[in-house]
Amino acid sequence: MIKKPFFSLGSPKLGYQVIAASEKDSVQKIPLPSEVTLLFELHQIPNEALKIRPGDEVKTGQKLKLTDEEDESLISTATGKIQEICDFTGYLNRPCTSIIIKTTEDIIDDGFSKANETVSAESTLEFLSSLPGDSSFSSIINPDSPLYTIVINGIDKDLMVTANQHIVGTETEDLKKGIDCLRRITNPNNVVIAVPPNLVSKAEGLGAEVQVIQPIYPNGLPEMIMQNVMEKTVPEGENCEDLGVGFVNAETVAALGSAYNKGQIPVNKTLTVIKSDGSSINIKARIGTPVKAVLDALDITTASGDRLVFGGPMTGTAIYSEDMPILPDTDAIMVQDSSQIVRCADTPCVNCGECVRACPANVPVNMLIRLLENGLYEEAVDQYDLLSCIECGLCAYVCSARIPVFHYIMLGKYEFDRIKSAEESNV
Ligand code: SF4
Ligand code: SF4
Repeated sequence: MIKKPFFSLGSPKLGYQVIAASEKDSVQKIPLPSEVTLLFELHQIPNEALKIRPGDEVKTGQKLKLTDEEDESLISTATGKIQEICDFTGYLNRPCTSIIIKTTEDIIDDGFSKANETVSAESTLEFLSSLPGDSSFSSIINPDSPLYTIVINGIDKDLMVTANQHIVGTETEDLKKGIDCLRRITNPNNVVIAVPPNLVSKAEGLGAEVQVIQPIYPNGLPEMIMQNVMEKTVPEGENCEDLGVGFVNAETVAALGSAYNKGQIPVNKTLTVIKSDGSSINIKARIGTPVKAVLDALDITTASGDRLVFGGPMTGTAIYSEDMPILPDTDAIMVQDSSQIVRCADTPCVNCGECVRACPANVPVNMLIRLLENGLYEEAVDQYDLLSCIECGLCAYVCSARIPVFHYIMLGKYEFDRIKSAEESNV
């Protein structure tokens, strides 16, 4: 269990960016690139097990079955010829398989429209389990663990990111349809939409209970909404779904509505591009578009030493190549000029306690970091509440020794999961 209640008095007051009325309609469309890359993020698939091959022709929205395993499939986001299939290493060394498609003009696959005259959990799970905005949407429509409340998040999780606010401000018809679909598929007691005060008028009339989130970071994180709105604390090592509450981004719900409104699987993603001068723009791009194609379309150039980050300033992860594709859950691309980058250091913790004062979950970060730096992941869970962390990144933001605390924590959680899975499979 969480050993202490949420909310530390020492948290810095950082405000989310709130979009102005004039920004709600503006989104720049990025042209279809000559290549898209799809990432299968569960593991690297050996060649002999693959059901698709370089040279195969695919259509937009076609379900690509990767192996004989039931859940190993992807939706092609473009029409064209598969050029290459190779192993790929993602964040925290996660093994993935990448599929590169040389694109041609879109031909829409009719598999989804043929199979879906009515809205159902089965067809949603079969075709729409990885929609723009959320790569793990299937967990909230799992018929084996029904949810009593679904919360649609209309406030973005990181600072300077406004993709979900943009969706609430502009895609109201699809959102309304998506909320109706969610109700029919999952039959929850309640559907809530959480929005900042500027979007209340847009959220009313969508068919969900509107809850206003004060735009102070990290109020948009699911655990904080649970605490502030649902008045429930998520116990250590559990998640919101374990308490019967599912969270889904507004973009995903709009994509669900669009799929059933138009009979086509959505393949475009809304995301915020944060430029090095601090300005930002929302764009719509094909899932799988390389970052370079986005930068070119926006006339953004980078130089040696600049940094590209997927996500916002608090929880984003640096990417090492402009060939990295936009993924279904890429909410932002942040460009940092080399002169602005605050470098991490390998200096030891000076025990200043800033991280402990900032942590909204009251994790003893100053002690936790000592175990994580030494790879003692099980001890970090047992002794210093690693699994109470709600992944806000405030500890790294305030760290006076510039230790990359957040990424140590993410690595610690990932490695702890791997240790647990290995132990379970041994048993
Ligand atoms: S990321 Fe850091 S500050 Fe945020 S909850 Fe986790 S330990 Fe606390
Ligand atoms: S803020 Fe950094 S230096 Fe200070 S106690 Fe936390 S980890 Fe140590």
